Amino acid sequence: MSEPSIFTRILQGDVPGEILAETERVFAIRDIAPQAPVHLLVIPKTPYVDVTELAAADPALLAEVVAMAKRLAEEHADGDFRLLFNNGAGAGQTVFHVHAHVLCGPLGETSLV
Ligand code: 5GP
Repeated sequence: MSEPSIFTRILQGDVPGEILAETERVFAIRDIAPQAPVHLLVIPKTPYVDVTELAAADPALLAEVVAMAKRLAEEHADGDFRLLFNNGAGAGQTVFHVHAHVLCGPLGETSLV
């Protein structure tokens, strides 16, 4: 069995990290290296590798990710947000447990986009 991802380890409390929101299937944390005034990560608990795998396997779970992103953008900013998934190392993905970047406000110098 593969090692749990850094996000699973945060969820399980093995690595420090505040869980900002949690449902039965999805949770959210702050990005450790924010690229915008508000930069959160919304993460399905099931560790699909990327959004294409998630969308094919469980589109309703992808919709939950989007719904949580909207709720967090309303709670932490004015409700407007960018939603970004990096797919594959060549596109900048570094953690191979699917996660949505929720970015609110102006982006700084970032490698995300
Ligand atoms: P990716 O590059 O895979 O699209 O995004 C992974 C994100 O996870 C990066 O923006 C990175 O800053 C964030 N990250 C990596 N390790 C940790 C960690 O230990 N805690 C938190 N909160 N974020 C992390």
